[in-house]
Amino acid sequence: MAIKSGQHKGGKTGAIKNGSSKGLMKALALLPLFVFLLFTACLGIFFGGCTKPQQFSAPPAGAQRKVRVVATIYPLAEFARQVGGGRVEVTQLLPSGAEPHHWEPSPKDMVKLHQAQIVIFNGAGLEPWAGRVLPSLRARGIRVVDAAQGLDLLTFAEEKRLGLTIDPGSPGAGGPKGPEERKDLAGTEAPEGEHHHRHQEDETAQKKTGSGGFGADPHVWLDPLLAGEIASRLAEEFTAVDPAGAADYEKGARALQNQLDRLHQEYAAAVRKFRSRDFVVSHAAFGYLARRYGLRQVAVLGLSPEQEPDAATLSRVVDFCREREIKYIFFESLVSPRVAEMIAREVGAQTLPLTPVGGLTPEEKARGLDYFALMRQNLANLERALGE
Ligand SMILES: [Zn+2]
Repeated sequence: MAIKSGQHKGGKTGAIKNGSSKGLMKALALLPLFVFLLFTACLGIFFGGCTKPQQFSAPPAGAQRKVRVVATIYPLAEFARQVGGGRVEVTQLLPSGAEPHHWEPSPKDMVKLHQAQIVIFNGAGLEPWAGRVLPSLRARGIRVVDAAQGLDLLTFAEEKRLGLTIDPGSPGAGGPKGPEERKDLAGTEAPEGEHHHRHQEDETAQKKTGSGGFGADPHVWLDPLLAGEIASRLAEEFTAVDPAGAADYEKGARALQNQLDRLHQEYAAAVRKFRSRDFVVSHAAFGYLARRYGLRQVAVLGLSPEQEPDAATLSRVVDFCREREIKYIFFESLVSPRVAEMIAREVGAQTLPLTPVGGLTPEEKARGLDYFALMRQNLANLERALGE
């Protein structure tokens, strides 16, 4: 910084030394350019190569240097801690209580990202800001992990076509009065009312927002088996940076996968007893869960919780709930329950929490709840809503 402003000054006085007032004018004309270059240089220093060596926390003498990992959202940080064990130091970028779809990194977060050796993104469009940061992370040699990469992803259009999601907010959504009878993935008859004539149009629209946009469903961690694939992937990535830890990482990933498998078995056993498959949620976070366990989500707010439902959407949801005799409306811990309560009042249903587990609330954190506790709480509430 000091050197740059020195150069700036030097350039100006050099021009003045030329003697003529023309030279001075020239120098003055160039001043905005200098200022601009200085400004961009500062930005470059900040976003590109901002970290001074002394900013790295130096390990105490004799202590093993831990691999510095930054994970964007809570479930990825949780998986990274379990796979990495004592060999890694995991920083969770999104604070507890942050709603992942709305969040943007601050300059402080940029510093955290640039101090990491490994940065784990969810990918699949959950972090639209990632595209602005990735080039400078890669330029610094930081290993960037796109956790959703290589998983069997769905777009929201596919979820609708497959009968995993009903988005009553999309114009032309059939709602409960639609004439079409369909088969769902499990081969059982899906209730009428899907609107799969819409999917072509949806997919075109999504291609426009594609490549990191909301075309793909990012909520992969809600399927325990996809989460297990992420665990293996993290072990590989950690090993690439810290080969001496290969066996530890493999062990950590296996232990996590065993827990995830148990969770999966619990879900699979419980859904076999469900009497109904349709659950009404705020936003369409449960598509992968629905695919894995043969369920279907009705997403009042559509694809992202920032969207507010309009009156027409609400009345379609209310019709749907009445027709299906829906007894419980789910709400999310990180989003206001207002809409869920409104619908519940309208149709005489009760509300229950169903968390997308993208982040812990401060209360959940204080109570020591983790991914597994919340997934089991979700299952208990799904059983209550769909099992009776
Ligand atoms: Zn979400």
